[in-house]
This record gives sequence, structure tokens and C-alpha cells, in this order.
Amino acid sequence: MRLWVFDEWRIGVSVDDDPEWLVDVTEMVPGAGGWPPVHLNALVADLPQIGPVLARQARAAGPDRRRRLADLQLLPPVPWPSKIVAAPVNYGQHRDELSATGGVYAGQDIKTVLDYGLFLKAPSSLIGHGGTVQLPFGNRRTDHEAEIAVVIGRTARNVRPQDAMACVAGFSGLIDFTVRGSEDRPFRKSFDGFTPMGPCLVTADEVADPGHWRFSLTVNGAVRQDGSTERMILDFAHLVSLASYHTTLYAGDIIASGTPEGIGPVEPGDRVELAVPGVGRLAVRVEAAPASPTEVMGDWAAPFQNR
Ligand code: MN
Repeated sequence: MRLWVFDEWRIGVSVDDDPEWLVDVTEMVPGAGGWPPVHLNALVADLPQIGPVLARQARAAGPDRRRRLADLQLLPPVPWPSKIVAAPVNYGQHRDELSATGGVYAGQDIKTVLDYGLFLKAPSSLIGHGGTVQLPFGNRRTDHEAEIAVVIGRTARNVRPQDAMACVAGFSGLIDFTVRGSEDRPFRKSFDGFTPMGPCLVTADEVADPGHWRFSLTVNGAVRQDGSTERMILDFAHLVSLASYHTTLYAGDIIASGTPEGIGPVEPGDRVELAVPGVGRLAVRVEAAPASPTEVMGDWAAPFQNR
């Protein structure tokens, strides 16, 4: 089943392979509506029970409940996670490109997730398909990172790798936008709009082999990244296990699983699109921020726009 969130935190389900339509099931979800949209965390936790009911009702729904995707403002499928956990350098080829001659961090000793551990992104950086990413430092390099997002479905603490996938509700597409530079990762990756997610959540039962999942990213139609989860250093199960050892995971929490090689800079006016088979296409626009650091904060903030 694919789960969608749209407009004022409404909930949609698509049960067939129909790419154009969903069924609005908001009225069938207990506690739906309002802000903050924490009801979606509860829905994700309840999916094993309520999912089949929603799918059945969606199939039986009349035309008045059908919505054309193109008419909707899509939102992240889990818009209010307690945290976004993210894996730095979880693909060997991505590590190599960062430190290669001409790479972003040329000549530096780049390590992997096994050295860096995990980091956190602000949940407020989430946007959905069709959203806009504003570049906070106009003249500093900001990159796209194509990733698969794991969505946690139950409270999980100290989970062994062999038990970890039972804690996963589903998957989605995610772009981990990143300002390059010397500040800590949570600062460089947490600006508003820096975590596009979607276009929907696909439940784990519909992903036959998450360990061999090919996905790609284009900028203005040109392919920049084309990777497969089989190249991950830590696979989904080990990432969930590590994250659950670090912090208690709650339903709706998101794990960004790292990016394959091919990362690159974006510019105002770009259209960035991530394609994940089974999930769909997640496209966002890039534009310049309306004000520079010094315009907002004063001259003391100049180093942030020049480094
Ligand atoms: Mn990343």
C-alpha cells in the first residue's frame, strides 16, 4: 500500500498501480486533522491493523473520494517525526568521490559511517513533492544527496540487526540537501526545505528486496546519481539497529540511509527529481534565499556566506 499526505494533513491511499489518483481516507483515520500532524505517527504505528482496513475501504470508495494527484499539494508522508536520523558516508564510492582530486573535500581523509556514527537533521527541514528549497548561502556550494528513507513503525530500543526490519513500517524517497563546508552536519543539513521526502510512503510488505533497490536523481532532466542499496556499507537492518542503540526510535521516525556517488551542486532555478521505483518521483525546485546572512543578522555573520 502507498500512503500519501496532502493539503491540510489529509491522508490518501493508493492500492493499485494507478499513478494518477489516490483515495482520500482522512475520515476513516482516528484523530486525523489539525496541527501538529502527530496523528500520522499514530497511523504509521497502527498500519499493520488499520492498513488493510483502509485499503479495503479505498477499493470500495466511490468517485467522490478519488483525488487526482496533480491537483494536490503533497506533503511528507510522516511530517512530524521525533527525529530524522541520518547516515554520513554510507556508500564507499561516495566516500571516494568526496576525497578525489577535484572532489568537494579533495585530499582530505574521508571516513565512513563506521567512523562518524550517525547524525540528526531537524524535522522542520522536511518538505514534500513540489516544494521549494531555498539556498541559504548564495555563493556557497549546496549539494543534492539522493537517499532512501526508512520509516520506523514501532518503538524500538537496542534492536538486533536480525530483528530490525520488523520495526520498519515502510520506505520513501529522500533528498539530503547539504551545504558544503566546515560547520557540523546538523547545521549544514537542517535548513528549511533541506529534506524533501516522498512522494509517498510505500509499506515494507510491498518492497520485495530492499537490499537491491536501484534509484536515481536528475537535475533539470540530466542524470546525476544512479545507485543501488546493495552498495551500502551498513544495510537497512544494521542502520536501524545502530540508530536504536543510539536513541529510542518511535513510530514515524525517519532514517536517511546515505547517498551513492554522483552528488553535485544545485543552483537557483534548478529542478531536482528523485525517482525511487515503487515510491514514485519526488521533485523540488531550487531558489535563492530571500535574504543573506548579513542582511538578516548583520556584518558579524559575513563568514557564513563567504567560507
Ligand atoms: Mn546524506
